[in-house]
Formats: sequence, structure tokens, C-alpha cells
Amino acid sequence: MVLAYVVTVDGAASLVTVATARTTPVDVLAWTWFFLLAGGAVVHLEAAQGIERIRELSAEGSPHAHMQSVWLFAGVLALPAPLLVLLIAISFGHEWLRVYKRRAVLHRKVFSAATVVLGCVAAQQVLELFSATRPLDLTGPRGLIALVLAGFVYWFVNYAMVVLAIVMTNRQNTVRTALGHASDQLIIAASIGLGSGFAIIMTARPWLTPMLLLTVLALHMGLLLPQFRVAARTDSKTGLVDATFWHDVAGREIERARRLVSTVGVLILDLDHFKQINDTYGHLAGDRVLRAVADALKHSVRSYDLVGRFGGEEFAVLLPGVSTDEVRATAERIRFEIASLHIVVVDRLGRDQVVNGLTASVGAAVFPDTATELSPLLLAADEALYQAKSNGRDRVATAQLH
Ligand code: GH3
Ligand code: MG
Ligand code: MG
Repeated sequence: MVLAYVVTVDGAASLVTVATARTTPVDVLAWTWFFLLAGGAVVHLEAAQGIERIRELSAEGSPHAHMQSVWLFAGVLALPAPLLVLLIAISFGHEWLRVYKRRAVLHRKVFSAATVVLGCVAAQQVLELFSATRPLDLTGPRGLIALVLAGFVYWFVNYAMVVLAIVMTNRQNTVRTALGHASDQLIIAASIGLGSGFAIIMTARPWLTPMLLLTVLALHMGLLLPQFRVAARTDSKTGLVDATFWHDVAGREIERARRLVSTVGVLILDLDHFKQINDTYGHLAGDRVLRAVADALKHSVRSYDLVGRFGGEEFAVLLPGVSTDEVRATAERIRFEIASLHIVVVDRLGRDQVVNGLTASVGAAVFPDTATELSPLLLAADEALYQAKSNGRDRVATAQLH
């Protein structure tokens, strides 16, 4: 049933692509618009990929409003259908490589791309009812009506098809979750508006497009980044995410790994004899050391691994998609990085001191080998950490299989 629906949507998108590719001519000017829009889409995603990962994680189970609508809707207005489909393919391909990296289900992304193709082509059909020329003639109240209708059709076709797919696949999901957050739909509305502006300026005054690119980037990062910083509840001492947020993300990563038949590694790390640092140099120096260790942790893992502070001088690292050997190798690398730190601190008497030779004990566990739920997985990693401590500290211990 679901499969039939998904295959139909994918098939319809391919059919439309082939049909338009054969009938619509593409001229040099159209290629110029295409390169401007593709460039905008790529720069935008590169600049915002960190935020997009967090947004995508928190949208699990409901439609993910992806920001590329600015470029895609501008494409609806400015590009002939074959180049529009190519733009969609580039946008989704780039997103797959840079934001999702092998960690999403490929057929889901193909399906999203297919709904976008259908939404875009439907919106173009609406525009063609109003204006036969290209670039479109959108003057007067007729132009406004054409634009609003096209925007609505673009949004509705996408949204309806995605919601339907979510309802069909996750039956225990409530319809409310499947509908997603209203604020996400506002983001799409804003993207459609910006996309219209972009298309109109680009076709009339191409040299002004960098101004609008700047607007899009600044809005995306300026408005969404602070929102997600607050949502992420970062720990002010170290700049890492706090334990609650780390737990939420870890839970979602485990569900995702279960679906993808993948793995998730977790490390719990505790600095050795940290009390001595406080006793020797003072609490403020201790804080400075914690910050340096946090930075070292972030730099020793991949951009989509998540380092959290569990409290005190205890940290947790989430490593999606790694094998037991890789988890152990990462833990050793982290231990090495911490041991090589030379941190300049100010002691109680105001003198500069260098703290070095720090050591840490690490407990490692891997889903699904060690445990198949988050709580037992963390307990196992914590137990392993305790083993590492009692075997003499400054080492990595891997959780025993149960
Ligand atoms: P070990 O883990 O090797 O057993 O010894 P430890 O000295 O590190 O002992 P433990 O982990 O039990 O104690 C953690 C110490 O870390 C206690 C406290 O003095 C210090 N600490 C905890 N939170 C902070 C903090 O936010 N800032 C500073 N400066 N110190 C902290
Ligand atoms: Mg300690
Ligand atoms: Mg501790």
C-alpha cells in the first residue's frame, strides 16, 4: 500500500521529467539563471548545514521544512522545467552528501525529491495559465494572483504528499505529529516569498542577486541559529550541549539506527584526579581546563558526532554509524588529544601556570552489540568507565557483551 503510493509518486515525477525534457527548449539565458540559482542553493546549504542537521533531527516523524524552497521556487518562476528538475536534483544530491551523509533512508529522500518535482511542475502549470512568455509576465493584480496561486500549489502538493506518506508509514504516530509544526509552514511561506523576489530581481537585475543571497543567509543563520542554541540548551561553561539535550538526540539516533540497521557508539569520559587541579590551581583554573578539554573533544570527532557535558568533569560522546573497533579507536584518539593538551591557566595568586599531562578514563559501548535501548547502553558504558578507573585510570574500557 505504502510502497504502491511511493512508487507511484516517484514514477510520476520521472514521467513528468522525461516529458518536459523533450518538449521544453532551453536557451543560454535559462542556463544563466540556472547557474545563479544552483550557486545560491549550494552556498546556502554549505553555510547552514550545521543548523539543518539539528533541525532535521528534531523533525523526526514530521515533515521537514527544508530551506531550499527559496531557490526551488525561484526556479519555478525563472527556469524551464528540465533545468528546474536538474536544480532539484542538485539540491537534494548536495543535501544527501553534506547534511544526511549515509544516515538517512535513501528511498525517503528520493520520495521527497519526487514530491518537490511534482509540486514545482504543478506550480509552473498554474503560472502558464496566466503568462505564456518566459521570463513570466507578472504585472498588475493578475501577476499577484498568479504568484499566490502558484505558491500555494507548490506548498500544498509537497506538504499533502509528505504528510500522507508519514501517516501511512507510522500508524502509531498521531496526525498532529505528522502535520508538523505550524512554524515550519511559515518558514516555507517565507521561502516562497523570498524565492519570488529572488526570481524577479535575478531576471531583471542579475547583478543585484548577491544582495539577496546575503539576505537569505543572514535570515537563516541569524534567526534560526539562536533559536536552536536555546533549544539545544548548551552548557555555558564549556559550550557543549547539556545532558538532557544529549539524551534526546541519543534516543533519536538509536531509533534511526534501528531503522537503518546501523550502529551508534557511545563514550562516557571522566577526567582523572581532576580534584587535584582544583586543589592546586583553584576552581577558576579548573573551569579553564574543562573548556580546553571540551574543545579538544569536539575537535577529535566528526562534525555530526555529538559531545555533551554530563556534569562535573564528565563528558559523553555520541558516534552514529561506527563499529566497535572505530569506537575504541576514537576513544584512544580522544585520550591522546587530552594527554597532549598544554593549557595556560591563572592560579590563585594570579600567576600563569601550564597544566599538562591530563589523563582521562573512558567507557565505551555500542548499539546494538552492547544493548538495544539507550538506558542499558549508557549503564554499560558507565560500568566500563568504572572498570577503567579501577584498573588504574588513563585507559579505555569497552562494555562487556551481555
Ligand atoms: P577520579 O575521577 O580519577 O576518580 O578523580 P576525580 O578527582 O576526578 O574525582 P571525581 O570525578 O569524583 O570528582 C570530580 C571533581 O571535579 C570534583 C570537583 O572538584 C570537580 N568539579 C566538578 N565540576 C566542576 C566544575 O564545574 N568546575 C571545576 N573547576 N571543577 C569541577
Ligand atoms: Mg574524575
Ligand atoms: Mg567525575
